[in-house]
Formats: sequence, C-alpha cells, structure tokens
Amino acid sequence: MGNNKIIGVVGAGVMGKGVAQRFAQYGFNVIIHDISEKALKTAKREISRAVAFSAMMNKSIDVDGTVSRISFTNSYEGFENADFVVENVTENEEIKLSVYQELEKVCKDECIYMVNTSCIPITKIGSITSRKEKVMGVHFMNPVPMKNFAESIRGWYTSEETIESVRTLLEAVGIEIEVVNDSAGFVSNRISHLYMNEAMYLVYEGVAEAKQIDNIFKKAFAHKMGPLETADLIGLDTVLDSLEVLYHQYEDSKYRACPLLKRMVEAGLLGRKSGEGFYKY
Ligand code: NAD
Repeated sequence: MGNNKIIGVVGAGVMGKGVAQRFAQYGFNVIIHDISEKALKTAKREISRAVAFSAMMNKSIDVDGTVSRISFTNSYEGFENADFVVENVTENEEIKLSVYQELEKVCKDECIYMVNTSCIPITKIGSITSRKEKVMGVHFMNPVPMKNFAESIRGWYTSEETIESVRTLLEAVGIEIEVVNDSAGFVSNRISHLYMNEAMYLVYEGVAEAKQIDNIFKKAFAHKMGPLETADLIGLDTVLDSLEVLYHQYEDSKYRACPLLKRMVEAGLLGRKSGEGFYKY
C-alpha cells in the first residue's frame, strides 16, 4: 500500500498523538480531531518534540516533513477524504458511540474505522454504523511511535477484506498485528488489568510498596515494566475506565476496581500524564 492514503485520527490524547505521529513519520497525511482545544495544542507541541527526539536516533526521519503532514482540527473538516479513521477517544462506550454518529455524517462509504480501545467490545460499535463489516478493533500499544505491534479484534461482522486492508496499512508503518475474536478486554487487557488491579490492592493493604511489586515482576518474571509502572504509563483514569467496562461486561467481581485507584483518580493522580501516580515524574 502506498502512503497516499489519508488517515483521520479522532482523539488527541496519549494514544491519538502517538498514532498521528507514527503515520506521519511514515509519509501519510493525517488529520487529527479532538473536541478539546487544549488537547490539540498540547498534541501539536508534544508531537513536534517527539519527532525531533526520534530524529536524533534515526537520521532518516524528516522532522519538518513529518510535522507538516499533520493537520489539527476541532471540527470534522477533511474527514470526508479519509480512507481510514483511527478513533482514540476516552474509554467510555457512550462517548465512543457519539463519535461514530458524527463520523457517519462525514466519512465516505469506503472508509474503514479502526477502534482503538482497551476493553470495549467492537461489535456494538460496528452495529451502530452503516458499514459494520468495515469496523475493526486495533488495540495499539503505548507509546505508539515505538511499539511495533497491535492486538487486533474481529467484530461479529468485520470482513476478511477489512482485516487484510488494515493489516496491509499497518505493515506499511511497521506494525504487526495478531487478530483475535471480539470479547471485552480482548486477550491482553482481560489478563493485564487483573494483575494491575491486584497490584494496587497489595499497596492498599500495605503488603508491599509499589517499587517492591514492580521489582518482583521485573526480576522474577523478566517483565520490562512492573504492573504499577505500566498503570502509570497507561493513565490511571484509563485503567479505572477499563476495569469498569470489564466489571460491567462480565458482571464478575474479579474486575472490581481497587478503592485506592478510585481515590487516586479523584485526586488527579493519573500517572505520567499528570506528573504523579504510583511514582513521581
Ligand atoms: P486520553 O484521556 O489521553 O485521551 C482521550 C482524548 O479523547 C482526550 O484528548 C479527549 O479530549 C478526547 N475526547 C473525548 N471525547 C471526545 C469526543 N467526543 N470527540 C473527540 N475527542 C474526544 O486517553 P488515551 O489514553 O489516549 O486513550 C484513548 C483510547 O485508547 C481509549 O479507548 C483507551 O482505552 C485506548 N488505549 C489506551 C492505551 C494507553 O496506554 N493509554 C493503550 C491502548 C489503548
């Protein structure tokens, strides 16, 4: 696939910024939309900084070219030309569904929707659109410019043709996919949110400090990051939203969010993105 395809990105938070940067770095034109002017401004500043940083390691990255290929908007102007949309808004089903209602008004029929979500099942999102066979889950990994893999989800109606188009598109930006069937939390987060939540209970109960828990995961299991470092990287608000989705979807108390996580989110301690979570940044 040539990089003449236009990529619409919805949501300019942690994931949207990374997705926009990755596609632009590989030569695609990107339009990024967010309802928040502040998020757009921050994204513009942080993407420029991140591309300049990447170019220090990889001399083939053209900083000015990459940045100039991304346009920022608080409307959906330009989305009528998008061949693919990657949606990365807040992990909340109602918010996500409202975004697809907007996309349906502007996107051409051939446009494929890629749903970037931690836990929300894809089938329901596909079902409210006029193109349920062209809707697929793509759970990008954070930080997107550095992670060459995405867990991908076949919704009830997702066609094989859509899966192949998405696979080809992502190969063009160096991302490999593994496609699984639809299920809340898919494979990765059904498992990882249980151990991140349990790690928080251990801190809450005073069994061990965050650093000790992460150290055990790194030293004993050779994980690159421990569960609490991972939660801070994801964003504690997003982890809480995801646990709530899992709890409601499975109606199973094993996904009941740790009270400490709820208090930290209420206190604005969201991890890396706010400067403090289980660690200070
Ligand atoms: P975030 O909170 O950093 O960003 C979400 C953005 O969505 C915000 O900028 C917000 O202004 C915007 N938004 C909210 N409502 C909107 C609307 N109606 N229209 C347009 N924009 C809207 O969240 P994030 O971490 O970037 O997560 C985005 C999605 O990606 C979530 O579904 C999350 O579960 C998933 N995800 C997150 C990670 C991670 O590590 N953070 C990893 C994989 C997938």
